[in-house]
Amino acid sequence: MVDTVLTIQIPERDIPIYAEVDVVVAGGGPSGVAAALAAARNGASVLLIEQRGYLGGMATVSQVPAFCPYTDHIKPVIRGIGLEILNDMKSNMEETFQNEWREQLDWVPIDAEILKRLLDEKMEEAGVKVLYHTFVGHVLQQSGIIEAVVIHNKSGTQAVKGNIYIDATSDADLTYLAGGELVKGGDDGELQPGTMCFVLNNLDRKKFLSSVEIHGRDLKHAISKAKSEGRLRVAREWAGISWLNDHTAGFNFGHVFGIDGSNADDLTRGAIEGRALVEHITGWLRESIPGFENAFLTLTGEQIGIRETRRIIGDYIVTTDDFLKCRSFPDDIARNAYFIDIHMTKPTSGMTMIHLAPGESHGIPYRALLPVGIENVIVAGRAISTDRATQGSARVMPNCFAMGEAAGTAAAILAEKGSRRTRSIEIPSLQSRLVHQGAWLGDLINEQYKE
Ligand SMILES: Cc1cc2nc3c(=O)[nH]c(=O)nc-3n(C[C@H](O)[C@H](O)[C@H](O)COP(=O)(O)OP(=O)(O)OC[C@H]3O[C@@H](n4cnc5c(N)ncnc54)[C@H](O)[C@@H]3O)c2cc1C
Repeated sequence: MVDTVLTIQIPERDIPIYAEVDVVVAGGGPSGVAAALAAARNGASVLLIEQRGYLGGMATVSQVPAFCPYTDHIKPVIRGIGLEILNDMKSNMEETFQNEWREQLDWVPIDAEILKRLLDEKMEEAGVKVLYHTFVGHVLQQSGIIEAVVIHNKSGTQAVKGNIYIDATSDADLTYLAGGELVKGGDDGELQPGTMCFVLNNLDRKKFLSSVEIHGRDLKHAISKAKSEGRLRVAREWAGISWLNDHTAGFNFGHVFGIDGSNADDLTRGAIEGRALVEHITGWLRESIPGFENAFLTLTGEQIGIRETRRIIGDYIVTTDDFLKCRSFPDDIARNAYFIDIHMTKPTSGMTMIHLAPGESHGIPYRALLPVGIENVIVAGRAISTDRATQGSARVMPNCFAMGEAAGTAAAILAEKGSRRTRSIEIPSLQSRLVHQGAWLGDLINEQYKE
């Protein structure tokens, strides 16, 4: 290895154009899925490009085991496509799961395989063209307008042309490749840790629940004791356990520190250290937790779960003050009620959690989705323009669905007008469509467009 970065020149060459569509969506996580569906349902031709062989993002790629709350503890805040996907996933689950979760909108466990099938079907129904196993690795642009993205896959290197591009890569890859303004993590470059989530089978839920007072529903007491006895190497005394049935549960447990998810070496280290940690944790669960004696490790994430990398600098940066004061904006396209949830950046640092009161939420303005200096890109998902603390809240899956639905709807409206200028959109027409599609943008806006 050398310290200086050596370079090599790639010869100029012509590459085939794979497709030309109204809307190109890069990334098939919650934000990309909702963006593609919304754009197609609003009449646009859509290509959704995803590097894996399935949709769902962190829920399916990294086995993140539950959807964060859709409500503000009083009413659903996230509605529209996000709520449709949650309800459709539930109705495809076993009857016992449905009986337990039918009325619940918060912390619903995710069955990754059901979600994958459901999302395939939804894309087909809506007429979205999906291209799997394909990475967006380069953009061609002129004066802040992206003319094409360059994709890489088994068929080779090709170009895709679109009117509007939706950057749902969660690392703001398109914006980065286009030379947009970005920030990453905290002032000292600190990042939330990654987690290798996993699925265990052959568990006995009833037995586990019968001793839950001793260990804690989230294993807090058991972890604390095991750490003090030197039997468990995890930093946080908490395990997120999401039961899919009486024998199978997804786990969000343990941290891997110092992983930058926009760096391939770090992702590789995260995969190796993450799997080693899961092996260690699973051994401890078998030895220590009643009901887990015969735990069978079924699955770890294809990639370590990443909470934080780049954020765009957008036309507006949503701040912690906006969060705390539950501010609304004239161009709101979604609302967020989830708490600020910043995981420890080092094993010795603490968690930061700031909750809003029940019934409260703040607006997410359309401007926070628009990267400064780029005309025809809309960013949706965890890379939108916020300060670091607000990213720790806005990043969760229900919010990403809502932002994606707004981005896709905006892209379709622009395609109808033949405009590539994301800032030319008439906000009332975007908000009115979102409300009619079932979104909740706050009572004031919803009341205005309810007819
Ligand atoms: C460990 C962990 C636990 C979490 N817990 C919860 C929880 O309990 N509940 C909750 O709601 N949220 C949770 N979150 C947050 C949430 O999962 C993510 O923030 C959310 O999924 C982000 O959605 P997204 O659409 O922005 O991107 P992602 O879900 O990250 O999806 C991005 C997609 O884009 C694809 N992609 C990326 N770059 C490219 C490229 N260049 N070309 C092609 N494809 C590309 C990826 O393969 C991926 O499928 C958790 C996150 C982590 C890491």
